[in-house]
Amino acid sequence: MDESNAHPVPDRHGASLYEADPDLSAVASLYLPEDLHRHLQPHLARLGALAGRELDELALTADKHPPTLQSRSRTGRDEQRIVKHPAYVALEKVAFADYGLAAMSHRGGVLGWPTPMPAAAKYALSYLLVQAEFGLCCPLSMTDSLTRTLRKFGAPALVDKYLDQLVTQDFEALSQGAMFMTEQAAGSDIAATEVRAQPDGDAYRLWGDKWFCSNPDAALAMVLARIDGAPDGMAGVSLFLLPRTLDDGRTNDYRIVRLKDKLGTRSMASGEIRLEGARAWLVGEAGRGFQQMADMVNNSRLSNGMRAAGLMRRACTEALYVARERRAFGRRLVELPLMRRQLLKLLLPTEQARTMLFQAADALRRSDAGEEGAYALTRILTPLIKFRACRDARRVTGDAMEVRGGCGYIEEWSDPRLLRDAHLGSIWEGTSNIVALDVIRSIRRDAALPALRRHLQGLLDACALSPKVRATLTDAIEGALAQASAVAEARGALDHAAREVASGLYHVTTAVAMAWEATRLGSIRRMRIAQLVLRERVRPHARDVFAAETPWLAELLEDTRPAMRASAADLQSVELT
Ligand SMILES: Cc1cc2nc3c(=O)[nH]c(=O)nc-3n(C[C@H](O)[C@H](O)[C@H](O)COP(=O)(O)OP(=O)(O)OC[C@H]3O[C@@H](n4cnc5c(N)ncnc54)[C@H](O)[C@@H]3O)c2cc1C
Repeated sequence: MDESNAHPVPDRHGASLYEADPDLSAVASLYLPEDLHRHLQPHLARLGALAGRELDELALTADKHPPTLQSRSRTGRDEQRIVKHPAYVALEKVAFADYGLAAMSHRGGVLGWPTPMPAAAKYALSYLLVQAEFGLCCPLSMTDSLTRTLRKFGAPALVDKYLDQLVTQDFEALSQGAMFMTEQAAGSDIAATEVRAQPDGDAYRLWGDKWFCSNPDAALAMVLARIDGAPDGMAGVSLFLLPRTLDDGRTNDYRIVRLKDKLGTRSMASGEIRLEGARAWLVGEAGRGFQQMADMVNNSRLSNGMRAAGLMRRACTEALYVARERRAFGRRLVELPLMRRQLLKLLLPTEQARTMLFQAADALRRSDAGEEGAYALTRILTPLIKFRACRDARRVTGDAMEVRGGCGYIEEWSDPRLLRDAHLGSIWEGTSNIVALDVIRSIRRDAALPALRRHLQGLLDACALSPKVRATLTDAIEGALAQASAVAEARGALDHAAREVASGLYHVTTAVAMAWEATRLGSIRRMRIAQLVLRERVRPHARDVFAAETPWLAELLEDTRPAMRASAADLQSVELT
């Protein structure tokens, strides 16, 4: 026997991340057509198994070997290239080619499904991928979102020219996408954009600096710039499509000046770009760059919410495993009351984010189908998940790290990577303040509150709840809506409360939606989580439920089987209030 390893530290590496999460398939079934849900089962199972072993190993390697910028060939030709580690390229192949994650919203034929898949399918799969690798999910989402924006606003000739290469699963023929908005003086404040667009025949030439450009060597990028002579402010900003390579095979006239040395997403390159008369095509209407780019940004924000949900799930899966397997003071960690409390505080935001992810994905599907009120609902659910889930992911990944003890701080485990990556979610695609203010904007400009109220009422009507819990939830909805409405109507005077409003709406939406999921699934476990959300997050000053030594708290943390079906009467008996 190896005496150095008589008491090995628990390690779940190699086990499937799909099987570790018995509720994923059940919850997804509520948001997917039955036949598609059935069709995806083997794909989810395979991806979950890969994410638990091979992809996790590749991600760890890619994180330790960030990309580098090469500006000359070995023969001395000026030729810029980003050298990616083979581990990252292997991850790209799985995501873009094997699973077609950037293509599946835009065409049929991906994973053997004849039509484009709804967003919920893409996010169910990506939710597993991101548990292994976060960095790659940025290029993946940007390729998907660029394709969406190009199809929505681009001239037919431009779409015809580039669509096939954006949605192919042939890795060698694939064009990835990027989004270059941010400048030194124009980050949150896009109206300050200075990059110039000079008309040149049927195209434009772009001049100036872009300060943060992820996937900087992407074949195609959406870029914001100001056409010469355009007015100051937002009305002068237009959207352009910038190819990396011109039709004659030459590299377009822009340089990657340097790559950023980042805290997280180290596997993926982010750089600075100098545009030196680069040829680009106007997308959509001149002067509507921000409005059109907003569609791409919103899609990316939803993807960011999904990524935060996935990071939290991975953190939770690791923490629950360690707590069930490791012993201290003669007991398993999960049996210790204070550890139980800590684990439940990881589980609640994790479950909330997943519910919100599917809610927002479904609203997007309905909005794209032109359903009345669905656009306004998507408009508010998207910044809600981007704001709250990304913030929660910072805490959850940090607290889950602590559950592993000292090992959690060591770079050969997944925890440090999760923590580093999680911190980015709250910064890019709009910082927390900007996204919280966007929640208020959606209320003011897009009448999002009536849409949200109708939606929540519809969910609540379909819930099996005791009269007492129903009344508590109804009060909570009205309270959150009233506060949001007051802040929106104050026209800036109460903007300091925007984050509080966003959190309030997020918590109440997830509590109601989770109770609806519990009812549809007949899941006592989910109903209990819904009510914990109500007690812990919607009404945090209520009695501390974690103090109660109730057996079902332990069950929530220990039961790894799919939920059993319960009757409506049993569901209504779930009472915490
Ligand atoms: C790793 C990484 C990759 C990135 N990749 C890309 C990319 O591919 N493409 C791209 O275009 N950008 C990218 N970005 C840029 C990112 O989106 C911006 O950094 C972000 O939007 C913030 O802009 P800023 O850095 O200019 O900060 P600022 O806008 O200067 O913000 C600074 C602070 O001020 C706060 N603030 C600003 N306005 C308000 C307000 N009205 N009320 C209250 N607070 C406010 C912000 O919340 C923030 O805390 C990336 C950033 C990082 C870190």
